[in-house]
Amino acid sequence: MYLILFGAPGVGKGTQAKILSQKFFIPHISTGDILREAAKNGSPMGLEAKKIMNAGQLVPDEIMVEIIRETLGQEQCKNGFILDGYPRTTAQAESLNKLFRKLNISDYALICLEANDDEIVKRLTARRACKSCGAIFSSSEIENDVHCPVCKAENSFYQRKDDTEEVIRTRLEVFQSSTKPVKNFYKNENKLLEINGLNSIEEVSSEIIEGLKQMFPQKKLLN
Ligand code: AMP
Repeated sequence: MYLILFGAPGVGKGTQAKILSQKFFIPHISTGDILREAAKNGSPMGLEAKKIMNAGQLVPDEIMVEIIRETLGQEQCKNGFILDGYPRTTAQAESLNKLFRKLNISDYALICLEANDDEIVKRLTARRACKSCGAIFSSSEIENDVHCPVCKAENSFYQRKDDTEEVIRTRLEVFQSSTKPVKNFYKNENKLLEINGLNSIEEVSSEIIEGLKQMFPQKKLLN
C-alpha cells in the first residue's frame, strides 16, 4: 500500500499516518520530521531548512525531491509507505510520479483531509510535542502532566516554533497558493480520496480504511 496523506498543516496527517503505519505495517515518512532531524544534527542543509521552516515557508523543491528519492529507495520502503507532508508543490508531485513509474508503483492514493482554517489555528496553537519520543498532544490533554504519558520523560513538552499564530497564518497562505493545486493533480489521475478531517480521530481513520477498500477492492485490507 502506497499512501500519501495530504491536507493543510494541523489537519491530522501525522496522527492518521501513525495509525495507518501500524495497521498496514508500512513506514511513516514525514518530510517535516526528516527536516527537523537534519536541523537538530546541524548539517548545512538542516540549518538552512530550519530558517525556512521557522518562517512557515517551503524548503526548495530540489532539496525535497532529493530527500524523497533517497528515502523511498531504501529497503524499508519496498513494500509500501505512508508519505506525510510530501508532495507540497505540483513540481514535487510530478517528480514523485516519475519516481513511482521508475519503482513500478501504480497502486497509490492521495488521502486528502479537509478542515477549515479556524479549526486548524485552534488545533495548532494548542499542539505540544514530547521532545523525547515525538508524541503529539493537545495542551489540554497534558495540562497537569509533568511526565510524557507515552515515554514518561520528565518536562519534555515543547511547542514547535512554527506553531505560533503568525507563522500558522503564513503556512495556511502557503498551503492555499502552492500546495492545494497538488490535490487536482491526483484527482486527474483518479487517485484522490477525500475525507472530512473534522471528525474524531477514530472516525477519520475508519473513513480512510473504508475509502481505501473501495479504491482497491482487489486488496485484502485489515479490519
Ligand atoms: P510539517 O511537519 O509537515 O508541518 O512540515 C514543517 C515544515 O517543513 C513546513 O512548513 C516546511 O517548511 C517544511 N517542509 C516539510 N515538507 C516539505 C515539502 N514537501 N516541501 C517543502 N517544505 C517542506
